[in-house]
Amino acid sequence: MTGRESITPPHRYRDNDKAVGIGNAFWDMSERNGLAGIVAELDDGLLRTADGHEFVNFTCCSYLDLDSHPEVIEGAVAALRRFGVLDHCIPRSRVQIPALLELEASLGELWDADVVSAISAGVASAGLLPLVASGHLGDGTRPLMVFDKYCHVSMANAKPACADETEVVTCAHHDLGFLEDMCKRYERVCYVVDGADSLGGYAPVKELNDLQDRYGLLVYFDDSHSVSAYGERGMGYVRENSRLQDARTVTVATLNKAFGTSGAAIVLDGFDKSVLRVIERFAGALSYSQPMNTAAVGASLASAAIHRTPELVTRQTRLAANIELFDSLVRTAQSGAEFPIRVVPMGDDAVIDAGRRVFEAGFYVSPVFFPIVPRGTAGLRVMMRAGQTVDQIRSLCRVLVEVGADAVTLADEVPGGVLR
Ligand SMILES: *Cc1c(COP(=O)(O)O)cnc(C)c1O
Repeated sequence: MTGRESITPPHRYRDNDKAVGIGNAFWDMSERNGLAGIVAELDDGLLRTADGHEFVNFTCCSYLDLDSHPEVIEGAVAALRRFGVLDHCIPRSRVQIPALLELEASLGELWDADVVSAISAGVASAGLLPLVASGHLGDGTRPLMVFDKYCHVSMANAKPACADETEVVTCAHHDLGFLEDMCKRYERVCYVVDGADSLGGYAPVKELNDLQDRYGLLVYFDDSHSVSAYGERGMGYVRENSRLQDARTVTVATLNKAFGTSGAAIVLDGFDKSVLRVIERFAGALSYSQPMNTAAVGASLASAAIHRTPELVTRQTRLAANIELFDSLVRTAQSGAEFPIRVVPMGDDAVIDAGRRVFEAGFYVSPVFFPIVPRGTAGLRVMMRAGQTVDQIRSLCRVLVEVGADAVTLADEVPGGVLR
């Protein structure tokens, strides 16, 4: 009408019309049913809304309950006092207080690696992946960037930036055959994938090690879901299972899930110190003025200290026992996996009402349904934690069965108590 041109978006790697169009319908429906937009105070492990409704959160990723650990809280306060500032605003490559260096040395010692901190795993990936794409975080060769179809959105969001540096493709979930074909065709390939993913699966670390050996494949893992919860000193699924600890692997992990604090760790081996400097200077927001603040650093130092004590193993063991108890009561596709997330299948038309009844009974579990998941795969997402009590888990499972979950009966059990 105005004679001015309108723009046709290329939508090669993202499409907000689709994302908002699909996602908003889901959120509106959840909120209308009181299952999103909830405001509640946290009090001794229980959440309480302003009108007095109390519930246990069964969709929280603090799998070891370290987020409310007194030493972690105290660590945050103590560091703030010790460093005298929340954040001394200037890029760290110019001037920095020693807080980040202290944390990176501690995490590096904990996991026997070089660790660079970031405000979040999302920020780390947004900054690192374009550097991988341009060959600056690698051997200098621009790799073909292969993103796993189901990699976390924080990595998928980096596709447009990577595509301005190299070629970007998306592969089917864990498609090792495709990866090998690409390794034969391109001088360098980087595969971008979750270590332990939010659907309860694990990256094929050993098979990827073979491709790394044969072709020099670079693998970029996001192991946010398993760091702390698994492995010696909480090193996570990838590090526990990979036999390669060198510059063919880059791992990022949030410190905001089982680690129980805030921020993220970039875990590296065998990269030259000059590459670590390039990360600090050029990895997007890592080079801006705001790093992890001193409260987050202090909390993280305290959590790292707990990771060095038998208490970590006690918490990991309690988490595993809670997962096993849940699996002994309610059947899901994830039954038997060590991973703490379960999706209790429900019909598309029933899932919202089921979620509301579970909430009224005093437990929050998050319903997932069309359009954010395909029709026929709706369910209630449950996350297990070390701090949930046997009573809480048994009560939750009783309610889940009442609203339609598949109860495990004695006939399903085999000697040893494990399903199937
Ligand atoms: C939770 C999660 C994130 C987000 O971590 P932030 O530190 O909040 O950015 C990123 N990746 C994966 C795989 C996650 O599960």
